[in-house]
Amino acid sequence: MMDFDLVIVGGGLVGSSLACALRHSGLRVGVVEAVAANAPSHPSYDERVLALSLGSRRIFGGIGLWDAMRADAEPIRQVHVSERGQFGFARLAADEEGVEALGYVTPARSIGQALEACLRDATDTVEVMRPARLVGLRQQPDGWNIEISVAGSSRLLRTALLVAADGGDSALRRRLGLAVHEQAYGYDAIITTVTPGRPRPGVAFERFTDSGPLAMLPMTGGRWSVVWTARDSDTAGLLALDDTAFLQALQQRFGHRLGRLARPGRRIAYPLRLLLAKQLTGPRLALIGNAAHTLHPVAGQGFNLGLRDVAELADLLADTRRTGQDPGGHAVLAGYRQRRRQDQANVAALTDGLARLFTNPLPTLRLGRNLGLLGLDLLPPARHALARRFMGIGGRLPRLARGLPLDGGQATHAADDSARITQTAS
Ligand SMILES: Cc1cc2nc3c(=O)[nH]c(=O)nc-3n(C[C@H](O)[C@H](O)[C@H](O)COP(=O)(O)OP(=O)(O)OC[C@H]3O[C@@H](n4cnc5c(N)ncnc54)[C@H](O)[C@@H]3O)c2cc1C
Repeated sequence: MMDFDLVIVGGGLVGSSLACALRHSGLRVGVVEAVAANAPSHPSYDERVLALSLGSRRIFGGIGLWDAMRADAEPIRQVHVSERGQFGFARLAADEEGVEALGYVTPARSIGQALEACLRDATDTVEVMRPARLVGLRQQPDGWNIEISVAGSSRLLRTALLVAADGGDSALRRRLGLAVHEQAYGYDAIITTVTPGRPRPGVAFERFTDSGPLAMLPMTGGRWSVVWTARDSDTAGLLALDDTAFLQALQQRFGHRLGRLARPGRRIAYPLRLLLAKQLTGPRLALIGNAAHTLHPVAGQGFNLGLRDVAELADLLADTRRTGQDPGGHAVLAGYRQRRRQDQANVAALTDGLARLFTNPLPTLRLGRNLGLLGLDLLPPARHALARRFMGIGGRLPRLARGLPLDGGQATHAADDSARITQTAS
């Protein structure tokens, strides 16, 4: 007899989303999280402000959590893409796509609060063990025997499936010897918030500069989230600037589309790298979220991609209850690999390509990419294709990604957009 059908190692944004998605599935779910519930800071629910795609809003709708986070979510009604000092620009608009918003700008902390509340209400089916770390692992024919240390005491667990959701540095992935493709960009993302003098509600800006992309995302309360990509050799200098000098430097990079920028928040730097696991699954093991793919933050894709991992894996796992299949068996793992590989590879190639293309100083490339931006702005089918990618709604979608709960209950309002989008597309 197993203690759990699945044990998720890592209870951050992605791991907790999977646990919440499965709370009514009838499966017994364990979460092993390194950080204590009352820790003053959390490595996943931190100062980041995330652009959630429309697809992610639907997934949270299907999980039943969107209502808990919508008060802090600012709709993105237009995306403006340009290159600093160049002529090209392109715009994507929600009304052109027949949706209320292309995405929603949401603080990671608010998403974390909604997930924590969900886990507190789900103790019948989900057990969160923290602060905990994995001490031993032994594979059995029908699952894994796991030894963990929780708050200083040792505990033995048995599970049919292990899920690695412990982030880019996944200790579980390394312990099992799963290889990755990894490359540091030599750039950091410096995040902060500012208040613009001339706000343009609902407009998100992605501005490419010679040192990398600079994103300005509208938040609730008239603040804007800044994600400034800088060469790692410049990071210490940018962090050390006083507020006035930092605002001057930011204004120079971004320009005056939002008027005068003021009241900068705390600055935090994140080193950037591309990491892709060479295998998405192992013996009775699945990798999800950053443990499987850690991306450049350009175009805000990382968590959205991880949430799509959650939607597919939850879909496959929920069906094992109905069909009597083994949650750690071949059908689930092969299904997960097959459904997720292409999306992950496409998004990794898109973000990596954008990050490299726009920092390349070759004049012919500069001309080409600006013509490309103008072409995009002028060609509705190209804009539509890009908008769908940004919204994360292309291709075959699992139940949660259509805004539908896994237990066959009522569709949420998030699902309503599907019909409208399909109509627009056809
Ligand atoms: C500057 C920046 C901006 C970004 N903006 C966006 C955006 O706009 N949109 C978007 O979609 N994505 C964005 N991302 C990406 C997004 O932040 C990540 O994709 C997301 O945080 C991944 O979540 P995760 O749960 O997979 O991993 P993590 O957030 O790394 O969480 C891992 C969890 O595992 C726990 N853990 C670690 N090791 C162990 C262990 N050994 N045992 C147990 N538990 C462990 C940790 O405590 C943590 O809770 C951005 C990233 C950066 C750096």
